Amino acid sequence: MPGQGTVEDVLRSLNFAQDVGKQIRDAGYVLDKTELKRLLAELTSAVASSKMELSLLQGVCEARDDELIRLHEALVYKGNLRRRGDGYYKTLDGRPYGQPYCSYCWESKQQLLHLHSRILSKDIRICPGCKNEYQAIRTPYLEADGMTV
Ligand SMILES: [Zn+2]
Repeated sequence: MPGQGTVEDVLRSLNFAQDVGKQIRDAGYVLDKTELKRLLAELTSAVASSKMELSLLQGVCEARDDELIRLHEALVYKGNLRRRGDGYYKTLDGRPYGQPYCSYCWESKQQLLHLHSRILSKDIRICPGCKNEYQAIRTPYLEADGMTV
C-alpha cells in the first residue's frame, strides 16, 4: 500500500524486503521452486514499493526546499517593506517606491505578488494570487523621486 512519502513509509517497505531475506535464511536456503518464486515476487514488490516511497519522499523534500527559499526571500524583504494605502511597497531609505504588492497575500502568507491593473479598468487593481481587488487610487505606482533604484 503506498504511503505518504515519509521516512517511516520507506523503512516499512525496506523492512518487508528484509523479512523476505529472513524467511529465505530461516528455511536454510533450501526452498522449492514455487516458494522461491513467491518470495522473489514479494522481494521485487518490496523493492518497487521502496523506490516509489523514496520518490514521494524526494517530492516532499523538494517542496520543503521551495518553501524554505520562499521564506528566506520573505525574511529578506520583511525589513524592507512598508505598507502605504492598501498595498505594500519596497523601500529605499524608508521611502516606499515602485509597484504595490498585495497586502492580503503578504500579511497572510508572506507572499510578494504585484497587483495588476484589471483589464478595461484603470480604477481597479487585482491580485493574481488571491484575486482580491483594490482601488487603484489606494495602491498607486510610486515614483522613486530622486532615488537611485
Ligand atoms: Zn493577493
